Amino acid sequence: MSIHRYQRNFGYFDYQDIFKLFDTMVTPVLCYGAEIWGYEFSEQIESVQTSFCKSFLGLFRTVNDSMALGDCGRYPLCTTYFSKCISYWCRLIQMPNHRYPRNCYLMLKAHDDMGRVNWASNVRNLLYKYGFGFVWISQDVGDITMFLYQFKQRIIDCCKQTWHSDVDTSAKCIHYKQFKTILNVERYITCSLPFHMRKAMAKFRCSNHKLSIEVGRHDGIQRALRICPYCLIRTNQEVLEDEYHAFFHCKLYDDIRLIYLPLICVPTSLWTPFIELWVQIITKRSTQFPYIFTIC
Ligand SMILES: [Zn+2]
Repeated sequence: MSIHRYQRNFGYFDYQDIFKLFDTMVTPVLCYGAEIWGYEFSEQIESVQTSFCKSFLGLFRTVNDSMALGDCGRYPLCTTYFSKCISYWCRLIQMPNHRYPRNCYLMLKAHDDMGRVNWASNVRNLLYKYGFGFVWISQDVGDITMFLYQFKQRIIDCCKQTWHSDVDTSAKCIHYKQFKTILNVERYITCSLPFHMRKAMAKFRCSNHKLSIEVGRHDGIQRALRICPYCLIRTNQEVLEDEYHAFFHCKLYDDIRLIYLPLICVPTSLWTPFIELWVQIITKRSTQFPYIFTIC
C-alpha cells in the first residue's frame, strides 16, 4: 500500500522498478520464516501478489488471477517459500551431529518414521510431490546449490503447467487464450506506457470491460444473447458484442477506428487477423495504439 501511496504523490513506477520494490520490500515479509511453514501452498500469500499485479495493471479484483499474473509474467510466490523450506532442510542434513538443530531434525525424522506427522513429514511430501523423493531416501542432495536450482526450476515448470491449464479451462479466458500462450511479461508493460494507457490495454486484454460479452456473463445471460445494443438499435442486427465486434465492426467506434485501425491491418476473418493485429500492436505501435482501447 505504501508503494501505491508513493505513486499517487510522485508518479507511477515502470515495470522494472515496481516489481523490484515488490521483490525487495514485500516478498521478504510475506515469506518470513518460510523455512518452518513454507511446505504448503498458501492462497492468502499468493493473493497479495495477484492483487498487486491487478493494481499495477488497473484491473478490478474480480479479474481472473491467471490473466493478471500472465501479463506481468510473474510466477506464484510458492517458488520462493518452497525453495526456502527445502534450502533449510538441505542445511540440516549436512549439519554436524553435535548441532542442536541437527539433533532436533533427527528426532523429528524418527517420529516421522514411526508415523507421526510433523515438519519432516511435510518436507518429505514436498520433495516427493516434485519428483525428488530419492533425495529424501538417501538424505543427501550432493551439491546444494545445484540441487536447489533444479528444485526451483521444477517448481517453476509445474507453475507454468498449472497456469496453462487455468487459462485453457477458465470461461473468463476465452478471449485471452487466443493470443497469450507463454507465461512471460508483455511488451506493452515494459515499454513505459503512461498508466492510463497501460490500464486501457490491460482491461481490453483481460476482458475487464463493459462490452455485453462480459457484462452479460455477470448477469447470467446466455452467451448467444449478449448482443450489441447499439447495433440492435441502429441497424436492427443481433450481433454478439465481443472484443472482435467492438474492435473491427461496431459502428459506434467508427470514428476511433478511422484514426488508428486502417494504418495497421484490414480484417478478413474472425480470430486469425485479430491475433495478428495484437502482435503488430504489441511489437510495432504499442506506444500510440492503446488510445483505441479507451472505448472500453
Ligand atoms: Zn455494435
